Amino acid sequence: MAAEEPVSKLEQWKYKYLELLERNEKQTVYTQLLERSLGRLALVSEGLDPALDNQLQSLRNELRSNKDAARIKETLEKIQQCISNMDETPRSSDASELIRHLVLSLNIPNDSQSRADNLLIQLKDASNQQVRQLLPDLVGLLDNMISTGDEPQASAKNPPGIFQKLGLSKVNTDIAQLLCSLIDNLQLPEMFTQQLQSIREQVTAPANKKNLPQIIDALCSLINSLGDQAQLQQLEYRAFLATLSERINELDDLLRVTVKDEEEAFQQRQKIGRKVDAGLDDIYKQIDITSEPRELKSIIRARLTALSGAVDEYRNADQHRYYQSQVEIKKLNDRLQEMEAEAKSLQDGIRKAHEMVRKDSLTGISNRQALMDALETEYIRWQRYKQPLTLVIWDIDNFKQINDSLGHLAGDKILIRIAEILSSSTREMDFVARYGGEEFVGLFPATSLNETLGLANKIRDEIKRTRFLYDGKHVPITVSAGVATFHQGDNTEKVFKRADLALFKAKNQGRNICVIEEFSTKP
Ligand code: GH3
Ligand code: MG
Ligand code: MG
Repeated sequence: MAAEEPVSKLEQWKYKYLELLERNEKQTVYTQLLERSLGRLALVSEGLDPALDNQLQSLRNELRSNKDAARIKETLEKIQQCISNMDETPRSSDASELIRHLVLSLNIPNDSQSRADNLLIQLKDASNQQVRQLLPDLVGLLDNMISTGDEPQASAKNPPGIFQKLGLSKVNTDIAQLLCSLIDNLQLPEMFTQQLQSIREQVTAPANKKNLPQIIDALCSLINSLGDQAQLQQLEYRAFLATLSERINELDDLLRVTVKDEEEAFQQRQKIGRKVDAGLDDIYKQIDITSEPRELKSIIRARLTALSGAVDEYRNADQHRYYQSQVEIKKLNDRLQEMEAEAKSLQDGIRKAHEMVRKDSLTGISNRQALMDALETEYIRWQRYKQPLTLVIWDIDNFKQINDSLGHLAGDKILIRIAEILSSSTREMDFVARYGGEEFVGLFPATSLNETLGLANKIRDEIKRTRFLYDGKHVPITVSAGVATFHQGDNTEKVFKRADLALFKAKNQGRNICVIEEFSTKP
């Protein structure tokens, strides 16, 4: 590689120009030199910077008019400021620019001036191929200069040469210096360093003034190949940038993926994060293997670092969001479970309360309310399916007497026992309830009047045979029953009434007996 921070061509020019000024101050060619140098400086800097152009115009005017040293100095300082403000990156691979600067750097003898100007015009914006075609002209120009410079310093025929005027003893020293500074300004890929170094050595070797045109030719070829190299690099970089923008687009697409499910989205985004990392790594690697230019590299690197930072930030925020939402979800779940438990216990409470409302608190079997509900349901079913539905009312015989003689508590125990017998002696589909006091009701779906009478008698017999003990003594208990069934056009009240009437008959017939209804189709 060439020098790390090469001095710009303009900077060199400024340097050279000031040096010339100093050297020639005593020889009173100040104005001439200044004007000539100014002309060259204007050529070099032409169109580079409007501010510089303005200052140069001012300087030109000042030189033409008053030649006030203080004002000229002030303008020069401004020019210096303009130059240092300008972008100083040398376009080292541009062969035409470099050759132009080389020509402009030469102190061209008067007889070659028009040739040099012509060359400068042709070199302006010339392609590498065109530069190559112009090289013989350049070499011819240099040949001419060398022969002029080799002539005796001053004679009557030949006035002092331009190099002598500038205080340079040998022309090739001047050209060699310029070439060296040109070489030092070149920013080359490493593969060219050796080649350039060898040219530099040839330039600085004292015996090489005759070979100078060949050396310049070699240098120009090298510059041309640099141009080719630069083109190659440009292509390489264009391809690289295309890949880069493609990758960045891919990453962008990935980041825009939206997934409905939060968990899945999180996993997806984690995956995207890893892909972005891999993509960035890949891009970094590509930058590392691509050699030039450094400036572009550093810009891309900075952008990628920013991109990578943004992705990191996005991922961290996403992760934080995800964990936050997980915490929220857990809280909600816990709350939901609590509420479910609350709802369940509430439902249990309600169910129990509901059951309690429908159960007889003493015996534990269904109560009057539950009987009414069951009657309604079974009545509707009977109406629809026309299956028999029969009702029985049991009443404990002489219970008042038992209560009175044995006490209310003994009476309660008898009630509980009878309820047990009723429950255990009936089928799942049957329904028994304590209707009130010492009266019980049974509802027998799909059972005829006679079948039910049989069932009622069986239960009556069971109760009669049950040994109720009080104070170790047997207490005989019997029940009477009235049985009625649903007939066409019946309602629950009518059936109830007929069963009650039958029970009344049973009592009248001496108790411990089941009596069926009296039913006539006549109104
Ligand atoms: P009958 O054979 O004619 O039915 O005579 P009875 O004594 O059973 O008739 P009555 O209806 O006059 O008497 C019913 C008695 O049942 C009155 C009351 O002392 C008793 N009894 C009603 N409910 C309960 C109760 O919850 N517990 C107790 N121990 N006795 C009750
Ligand atoms: Mg009674
Ligand atoms: Mg009774």
